[in-house]
Amino acid sequence: MRICMISSEFAPFAKAGGLGDAVSALAAELHRGGHELRIFVPRYSSIDPEAAGMVPVDFLQDISLATGAFGLQYSMYTAPQQNGLWVHFIDCPILYDRPGLYTSDSDEHLRFIMLSRGALECCQRMGWSPDIVQCHDWQSALVPLYLKSLYAWDSLFANTRTVFSIHNLGYQGGFQAGILPATGLSAYRDLLHQDDLNAGAINFLRHGIIYADALTTVSPTYAREICTPEYGMGMDDLLRQRHESLFGILNGVDYETWSPEKDPLIPFRYSRSNLRGKAANKARLQEQLGLRQDPDTPLAGIVSRLVAQKGFSLAYEALPRLLADGRLQLAVLGSGESRYEEFFTWLQHEFPGRAAFWRGFNNPLAHLIEAGSDMFLMPSLYEPCGLNQMYSLRYGTVPVVRKTGGLADTVTPHTRDDGNGIVFEHADQTGFGWAMDTAVELYGQRERWNRLIANGMRQDFSWEKQAGAYVTLFRHLAETSTA
Ligand code: ADP
Repeated sequence: MRICMISSEFAPFAKAGGLGDAVSALAAELHRGGHELRIFVPRYSSIDPEAAGMVPVDFLQDISLATGAFGLQYSMYTAPQQNGLWVHFIDCPILYDRPGLYTSDSDEHLRFIMLSRGALECCQRMGWSPDIVQCHDWQSALVPLYLKSLYAWDSLFANTRTVFSIHNLGYQGGFQAGILPATGLSAYRDLLHQDDLNAGAINFLRHGIIYADALTTVSPTYAREICTPEYGMGMDDLLRQRHESLFGILNGVDYETWSPEKDPLIPFRYSRSNLRGKAANKARLQEQLGLRQDPDTPLAGIVSRLVAQKGFSLAYEALPRLLADGRLQLAVLGSGESRYEEFFTWLQHEFPGRAAFWRGFNNPLAHLIEAGSDMFLMPSLYEPCGLNQMYSLRYGTVPVVRKTGGLADTVTPHTRDDGNGIVFEHADQTGFGWAMDTAVELYGQRERWNRLIANGMRQDFSWEKQAGAYVTLFRHLAETSTA
């Protein structure tokens, strides 16, 4: 199949969270399976063109795109990957030369309209007719509607089917209705969601849900949850209407990058049959972060965007209590909202040698925390899939998670014979406190703890398995297009 992917993130070039990892690993797996892929991402100024091996595509330079009153100029660059996959970059410096991947600038909508339309127009100019266009999150959610309106005249797309993949329903791309001309859809305003328009708004994600031929999200439990008012973020009605076209497919793990046996970013490699390297990584992590060299106190790790979704407000009671009692050490990596940064900064000051907070994005440290910690904390209020708990399982780092979304699908409670983690249900401080007390107590019972580690390390969440579910869906859609 010819598969076009349009995404705002693609690891290693552009990654803010799990989206970058997931899209890149899925693309690699589909490519390995013999499918023809073209991936479109913005050429952010943070991407080093030389390191990426980026080259301009001669016949796709200085192209004009008129979107409403704006005249934009863009070019396409491309970069071959080691695995033979080609990634295409939409180059438009006035939009992508910014400090981060995402902004709160007044033209944020335009940055991803450019990506969406640029990708489709590059397909046109290359004469490349995709069987499937897979759009990821709100940034490319207008593409299914574009194909049914602005680009409907082009027979190149006559058999193209669209899949809208929701990696996180919490980010919707909601803008003032005044941006309508910039979308290029003024002549098709009847196709836009009328209640939103009347309320003065345009929500990109909503149009992906309405117009894509199929919807996916990144775990079976999250697929069910988002159809409820509790998790639906205002989209649950619409998602319930489309539930027959909504598929929950768990993200996989790229075990080439995330395996303690071969991870080049950790100082000591180890495996299920020989965990000595894990203890050495713990000592290194403690040393690197200024934690007391103590092999016997359980070390809990956190690597996360520090946003409300991740549930760290549930930890306000239990973490200081366990640190004060000297029953826990804590290593935190992340950045985000100031309330959480302040909390972890406070813990570091209050409990020197026991709690450490590294503020920012640091991939090598993320690997070392996975390898050197005893347990990994994810008390998420909601979690579409979550990757770190799956990495943790492979690294023998017992996940402590809330029972939601992908966490519920991948972590099995310690009370079962095949248990691999600690799972709590209630999104409150008591729930998390119970989970932490349980984890610390189990850590002291070596046999039980070792069984959790062994069960976790045996688990296989490779993309090889998961990509098959996408192929089945894509094939089904492609068949209905020619039927
Ligand atoms: P989300 O996509 O909601 O951020 P996931 O668990 O799905 O959460 O994926 C997070 C990914 O981002 C993981 O690969 C994790 O290691 C990485 N990550 C998050 N924060 C940081 C950070 N501060 N430094 C390095 N890597 C990070």
